Amino acid sequence: MPIAEILSQGEEIVGGQTTDSNAAWLSRRLRDLGCDVRRHTAVGDRLDDLVHVMGEIANRAEVCIGSGGLGPTSDDLTAAAVAEAFDMPLQFDAVAWQQIETFFAQRQRPLPAINRKQAWLPRGAQRLDNTCGTAPGFALQTGTCRWFFLPGVPFEMRAMFESAVVPLLRRHYTLVPQRTVVLHTFGLGESAIAEALQTLPLPPGVRLGYRARHSEVQVKLTFPPDEAATQRERLVASFAAQLGDAVFAITEEETAEKHPGELASVVHTLIAARGWSLAAWETWSKGRFTSYCASYPWLVASGYGARFDPVPARSRGETTRLQDDIAATAMQCAHSLREQYHCDIGLAQLHTPASDDAAAGVILHTALVFPGSRTYQEKRRVHGTLARQAEHAALWMLDSLRRALRDTA
Ligand code: ATP
Ligand code: MG
Repeated sequence: MPIAEILSQGEEIVGGQTTDSNAAWLSRRLRDLGCDVRRHTAVGDRLDDLVHVMGEIANRAEVCIGSGGLGPTSDDLTAAAVAEAFDMPLQFDAVAWQQIETFFAQRQRPLPAINRKQAWLPRGAQRLDNTCGTAPGFALQTGTCRWFFLPGVPFEMRAMFESAVVPLLRRHYTLVPQRTVVLHTFGLGESAIAEALQTLPLPPGVRLGYRARHSEVQVKLTFPPDEAATQRERLVASFAAQLGDAVFAITEEETAEKHPGELASVVHTLIAARGWSLAAWETWSKGRFTSYCASYPWLVASGYGARFDPVPARSRGETTRLQDDIAATAMQCAHSLREQYHCDIGLAQLHTPASDDAAAGVILHTALVFPGSRTYQEKRRVHGTLARQAEHAALWMLDSLRRALRDTA
């Protein structure tokens, strides 16, 4: 696996006005392709800094993808820095110039004289054609490091990476992508998970990583390209077993982005497989459960109420507001929903303050009724900002459903 680095050029990146999305995108693509991305560097508009950094990277990376600084203005210094760092004086590239002329002519725009600068490329560099902008990129080799310099504008950078860089990388390296398996967990904190996994031995070359996203914590296992599938499966299974029912999905890296609908899509699969329908009532989640599930055909009806007694006929008139009563009301509500909407599952989540102190959050009372009058009940506390509480409440509804469905044939 070639060791890769990413070099972003631009004062606005170092200054924080532009988020370095190019580096993030390039990292993902390089990892997917099978490169070992080790570092990101961002440098402002100072020639000395650029020259210095390029010298460093040349000594430690096998592949470096640079982006930005190819434009016509005086702050676009990439080619000049390459010329100085690697003693490759700039040379006029007639084909590049012709492409720039054509680009402007096709758009019937006058060609500013300063754009001529973009046709000057380091001597010995290979021009990379820009199919959607003016600045050509270029590739070159210094010692054992291969460099690819791409425009800063993200869509131009991506197009050039795919059309020009990927084929060159494949020509020079046998790229075999690493495999990353993601265990999606819900309900356990990052440190609790790390503690639970501490005792499991990790074979050499396998990397363990954590990522907290929204309310889920992902456990990522990255395997070297040559790891046998059986080895991989055995390790994933032992990790999943250690984490128990906190694991709600196991995916390959590529699909790990599809959050936070992920938990909902797991629930969807479970409900759809049974051909069931569901009616729900939510309070503290403020409609978020509905928004996660609204596109699924099994959601027959759902409602949101700020108060504890959402089902008019049954609960009205009750005055006691003790925790036990709320739990019972939630169950009653789930039963009513099921009957009222003639569906298979009734789901209700009500809430009570956790204590007199608002910072303690609320207790969620989740009740589920399944065919055959099978019931399931859960009590959880959520805290933090109100938005976080609402989000967690919705995810707890989904997760209660998931656990209960898994136990229901
Ligand atoms: P141009 O010909 O447009 O000057 P360039 O190759 O010189 O192209 P820059 O001037 O460095 O590129 O950047 C052009 C624009 O592209 C920036 O204003 C910024 O909006 C965007 N950009 C540059 N670098 C990045 C980056 N690393 N991540 C995200 N966006 C970037
Ligand atoms: Mg520029």
